[in-house]
Amino acid sequence: MSSFRYWGVEIWVVSVVSLIALLIGVFTSTTFEILFALISIYLVWHVRQIVRLKHWLTESRDLYPPDSLGIWSDIFHSIYLLQRRNRKSRKRLTSILSEFRASTAALPDGAIVLGEMSEIIWFNKSAENLLALNSKKDIGQRISNLIRNPRFVEYLDNGDYSLPIELTSPIDEHIKLSLRLTSYNNNQRLLMVRNVTRLYQLEKVRQDFVANVSHELRTPLTVINGYVEIMSDSKEHLPAFFERPIEQMGQQIHRMRSLVDDLLTLSKLDSGNEPIRNTPIKPHVMLKRITEEAVALSDGQHSISFECHSETAILGNEKELHSAFSNLIFNAVRYTPSGGRITIFWEQQAKGLRMAVEDTGPGIDPMHIPRLTERFYRVDDGRDRAVGGTGLGLAIVKHVLERHGSKLQVTSEVGKGSCFYCYFKPVK
Ligand code: ADP
Repeated sequence: MSSFRYWGVEIWVVSVVSLIALLIGVFTSTTFEILFALISIYLVWHVRQIVRLKHWLTESRDLYPPDSLGIWSDIFHSIYLLQRRNRKSRKRLTSILSEFRASTAALPDGAIVLGEMSEIIWFNKSAENLLALNSKKDIGQRISNLIRNPRFVEYLDNGDYSLPIELTSPIDEHIKLSLRLTSYNNNQRLLMVRNVTRLYQLEKVRQDFVANVSHELRTPLTVINGYVEIMSDSKEHLPAFFERPIEQMGQQIHRMRSLVDDLLTLSKLDSGNEPIRNTPIKPHVMLKRITEEAVALSDGQHSISFECHSETAILGNEKELHSAFSNLIFNAVRYTPSGGRITIFWEQQAKGLRMAVEDTGPGIDPMHIPRLTERFYRVDDGRDRAVGGTGLGLAIVKHVLERHGSKLQVTSEVGKGSCFYCYFKPVK
């Protein structure tokens, strides 16, 4: 029945009853009393329908409405249709939700939803296993109370989630985890946790292999070098024909030893096994010494100066910093053509203590700059090999600086020169 017809019936009933009441009232001269009594009965009936409606909506679990008459029949029926629609969409949502739950539970990676204050809102089964979370205790807890590693806390606060971080599992030191945050919905974040122990072990096998090969090459190289030196010292007893090959053998052995030494240095830095062993270091003293070595290497071909504007100490590893600084300074000497200028700076700036090496060498095209610290990356293979480097220098610099909380920065212009620089925190 259409809603208009329900209203029609209602109006018809009210009109007929009022007419009868009026007629009885006219004949018995009690129009007002009869009308009052009928309106009261009518009102009571409506109130009763309201009470039935409330009972049906709040207390009854029955989907079907109670029977009624007139307009109330229409109201009950409309609410029933609405409820049926709601129940259907609730069922659909519940099934979507349970499918989502089942699929996230099947994910091998842990997923944790964090709220505005980094409190845990939800996590899946894998997160529970990887981080020993407990759904009863840990929902609502801040994630930094459960993963207390300072690197993770810094990552969480820093807001730059472009890269994941790797940590040892807080429940098993043999497990390595990769954690990555993603922001969504303004203030919410999703933390994905992945077990990368296998990858970590493979990487370790690679590192050990490089370290072992480099180590094993050292002894034969030392022996060959010894013989070449003996032959070089007794050149006069050998035919003149041997002079050049012996000289070249000496050069190549020197190159191979540098390569093996750099590979060993890199694999030590790479493994992260060696603690940094921070001690107060005075870089101005170290840089002065390296400048003197650079002058010797340049052999009068360049004008080399050291601009020292600070004597402040920094915390670091002397051997590692020496290796990084000398790589940068010797590169400037090796790549700058004769007659060029090289300036080394050590100065206090707003961003921290700045170490810089500036040269008037060939410069580097901007497209190469992001790749300079890759192992064996060379801008100009032929030219750079002839210069005699190992191709590992800037990779070592990058690792050393990272271990000292710093980063290598490069500005360069082709044909004008380059500037390699980095910042350090002073000792407080
Ligand atoms: P290499 O042992 O070949 O010098 P590095 O890792 O030290 O290896 O440097 C990587 C590359 O960066 C070099 O091959 C060279 O192309 C470029 N490079 C480094 N320093 C300079 C510089 N001062 N001027 C121009 N190019 C440079």
